[in-house]
Amino acid sequence: MTDIEANLREIKENISEAADKRGAKYTDITLVGVTKTIDAERINPLVELGVKNIGENRVQELTAKYPLIEGNPNWHMIGSLQKNKIKYIIDKVCLIQSVDTIELAEAINKLCVKNNVIMDILLEVNIGNELSKHGFSPDKVIEGAQRCCEFSNIRLKGLMTVAPFAEISERNRDCFKKMYHLFIDTGEKVIHNSPMDILSMGMTGDYKVAIEEGANMIRVGTGLFGERV
Ligand SMILES: *Cc1c(COP(=O)(O)O)cnc(C)c1O
Repeated sequence: MTDIEANLREIKENISEAADKRGAKYTDITLVGVTKTIDAERINPLVELGVKNIGENRVQELTAKYPLIEGNPNWHMIGSLQKNKIKYIIDKVCLIQSVDTIELAEAINKLCVKNNVIMDILLEVNIGNELSKHGFSPDKVIEGAQRCCEFSNIRLKGLMTVAPFAEISERNRDCFKKMYHLFIDTGEKVIHNSPMDILSMGMTGDYKVAIEEGANMIRVGTGLFGERV
């Protein structure tokens, strides 16, 4: 068994266990393999093993690897995105997870209208209110979501967060709880143009806790490929 195979097996077991704790199933959780800094030669085996969703955080890296990846996975943009670079990924990604301002949502919509396509997005939430992080502050999410749902060519599918760095994942449990409530609240209070059913939270260090608290999409890099160099 290769390293990636062994790592994936362990992650799958952890996903099942954590999902079970909240009465959910393994199949309720989408694993996004985070492939930033990883070469195509190491990404291709992962896709072959059945990880059909991969996430990149830089436009340039995504477009460079795009032609090199086999198996036709779903590409996710998970990093901060400049408005003038949307055009390079609009025809490549299935979900932009890192929409952190209304202006960005508006710019994505505008390009989608021009190209006659629809793009799925998540609003990124700065759940820890950290100065160093992107995203809507929690008290601005409902308003932001409402605005997004008024755009004709984007579909707001849910929320995403990068929780504060924590040595002990348990420390982020409250953040994940808050996100879950915000996700439910936004689903109820906003008039949607499509079902809002994705809650993307949890990375290598904290995905188990995130799933226990309601995540149905996790983004794992280090846990699959080892430490990034
Ligand atoms: C790098 C990254 C991840 C994955 O982090 P790991 O700790 O390596 O699992 C998840 N989400 C975002 C937005 C990232 O930039």
